[in-house]
Amino acid sequence: MAIIRTVLRDIEPEELGVTLCHEHLFTGPPLWARSKDSDMVLADVDAAIGESRDFAAVDGGALIEMTTEDYGRDIEGLLAVARAASPHLISATGYQKGIYYPESAETESVDDIAARFVSDIVEGVDDTDARSGVIKFGTCRTDEIRGDERKVQEAVASAHLQTGAPIATHCQAGTLGDAQVERFRDLGVAPDRILIGHLDRNLDYDYIRSIAVTGAWLGFDHWTKPKYPSDEIRVDFVRRLFEEGFTRIMISGDLGRPSYQPHHGGSPGFAGLLTQVRDRLPASIIEQATITNPREFFAFEPKEAV
Ligand SMILES: [Zn+2]
Repeated sequence: MAIIRTVLRDIEPEELGVTLCHEHLFTGPPLWARSKDSDMVLADVDAAIGESRDFAAVDGGALIEMTTEDYGRDIEGLLAVARAASPHLISATGYQKGIYYPESAETESVDDIAARFVSDIVEGVDDTDARSGVIKFGTCRTDEIRGDERKVQEAVASAHLQTGAPIATHCQAGTLGDAQVERFRDLGVAPDRILIGHLDRNLDYDYIRSIAVTGAWLGFDHWTKPKYPSDEIRVDFVRRLFEEGFTRIMISGDLGRPSYQPHHGGSPGFAGLLTQVRDRLPASIIEQATITNPREFFAFEPKEAV
């Protein structure tokens, strides 16, 4: 039976509810990155509980929490939030992108790295019983997939094939989504098990369409961010893709900074984002992009660990 793997338990896909497909409750990038930018660390459990409760108050059902080990994943924090607030939380294994990789990514073999990801999905993260329900892969350049990322991509594909867990990606400035799908295909991953992230940072219709035709899912996950293309353009793209029959679209804000979260003094938060997106898109599209699609994509039939 297909399930969705949350940090507390496996749930039936119907239980998921309204889902934001790429968010962050806790972040802790490496020190070199933090010293350049003071708006990167989320480390307050009470604030994360507050954000999650606000999201629940506008009928929010689930957050896909995409912080990986190399970006400061806090599994104890996620468990505390999941116990205190109602939204389901799905935690990610995999790595964020090359510039954040731990040194072990260089020395370990593909199989070693894959085994680490599989253990997060099958056994639990950081000696807890909380298991990952999605595998992250990301690229940090806009022109090509780096050598170390090609190696990690092999491990991600292997972990997916061993466990069935879906893959969700980070595309730097929305680029290389097509290259990510092509390489995953070469590694034996079906495009419909991949969610290509951050495509709405690169609103080139032909490019996004070229990814849609493969059957991969499209992440429009930068809603409400003023420094990127406006939500009006996002609305146009989503409507046009739907009209063409490309309905594999999911929505989020990637609000992984204090300045994006009211309980850290920022805006709009998950609740504010959901409210704004609901005001902009027809209800039928909202329902598919935030309920039906996540329910289908994040579900998998767990395979027995070997
Ligand atoms: Zn993110």
